[in-house]
Amino acid sequence: MSNQQFTAMQVSESADGKYQRAIIQRGTDELPAGELLIRVRYSSLNFKDALSATGNKGVTRNYPHTPGIDAAGVVEASESSDFKAGDEVIVTGFDLGMDTAGGFGQYIRIPAGWALQKPEGFDLHAAMVYGTAGFTAALSVAGLVSRDVSPDDGPILVTGASGGVGSVAVGILARAGYSVTAVTGKEDQHDFLKALGAAEVTGRDAVDDPKGKPLLKEQWAGAVDTVGGAALVNVLKSLHYGGTATCCGLVASPKMDGATVLPFILRGVSLLGIDSVQVPLAKRPPLWNKLASEWRVPALEQRARTVSLQDLDPEIDRILAGQQVGRVVVSLD
Ligand code: NDP
Repeated sequence: MSNQQFTAMQVSESADGKYQRAIIQRGTDELPAGELLIRVRYSSLNFKDALSATGNKGVTRNYPHTPGIDAAGVVEASESSDFKAGDEVIVTGFDLGMDTAGGFGQYIRIPAGWALQKPEGFDLHAAMVYGTAGFTAALSVAGLVSRDVSPDDGPILVTGASGGVGSVAVGILARAGYSVTAVTGKEDQHDFLKALGAAEVTGRDAVDDPKGKPLLKEQWAGAVDTVGGAALVNVLKSLHYGGTATCCGLVASPKMDGATVLPFILRGVSLLGIDSVQVPLAKRPPLWNKLASEWRVPALEQRARTVSLQDLDPEIDRILAGQQVGRVVVSLD
């Protein structure tokens, strides 16, 4: 195929170690090798994109770089028998947007083993309302289910509830019949969380323990933690006997200072790690199909905002400051 010019965000590193973002024109010849050339129609904004867009070398080692860990679009050229030109596909995780040019550009070229046919029931835009955040929330809820945490066992706590992963998790859990207590630092988002289906909405002091006790009152049958740090430590201390907490994020802190083994050895609780990036491709469709049907969250879709590449800068600043609400879709048209 000829060298197609397209628009992309590019993050570059200057000699003094600073990072600049610009919207540039580049050619498909500059994209890495891969079996699928995809015309991206939509991407979405995740916390990791903001890290990549601001020079976090734990996410992106090499600059200049185009972030975007999510993409939904149409196959333009395929060297794989699994896909043909015109197929609508979604791509989340693997190396997309980390060290491989990502969905904040109108074209990506990737290995065929990173792409899924678009789930039935979603259009490309709806798939990106969920994106990596939604898939991670689905993995977290599936994790609780796999540990036999059922709606009859008691309430489920969700931290970082107004953010991307948290808001989808609140919605899915409510759809699945769980009673959800949503923890948020945003006093003005209680109505949004109730609309997603939260039975209770509380401030972050619900996961605070100034006295640093080894165990707290048993309150939660399970938890979806998206923030890490002291909140996760205190969630573990307040799980019911035999309860499970999932852990996917680190916006508060990657450390678990003050954690002890006591919740594990005295209450038999479990901590379940969630990774959405390297989940084998074959395991993904069942969860995407659930997101597109019984776990679909209408209130989340109504609240999602769609922005252009040109309007992405303030959204990146907002997510880094912990001030983003729900999901932001990026339009590449
Ligand atoms: P968002 O920024 O959309 O949501 C995070 C939310 O956490 C914020 O909206 C805020 O919610 C809360 N928060 C922010 N800062 C703090 C703080 N200092 N202390 C306590 N709460 C805080 O991010 P995402 O939902 O996209 O991602 C959440 C986390 O999950 C990130 O660390 C991300 O890297 C990780 N992640 C991991 C994945 C995996 O595969 N393991 C996949 C996807 C995400 P509120 O105001 O409601 O409290």
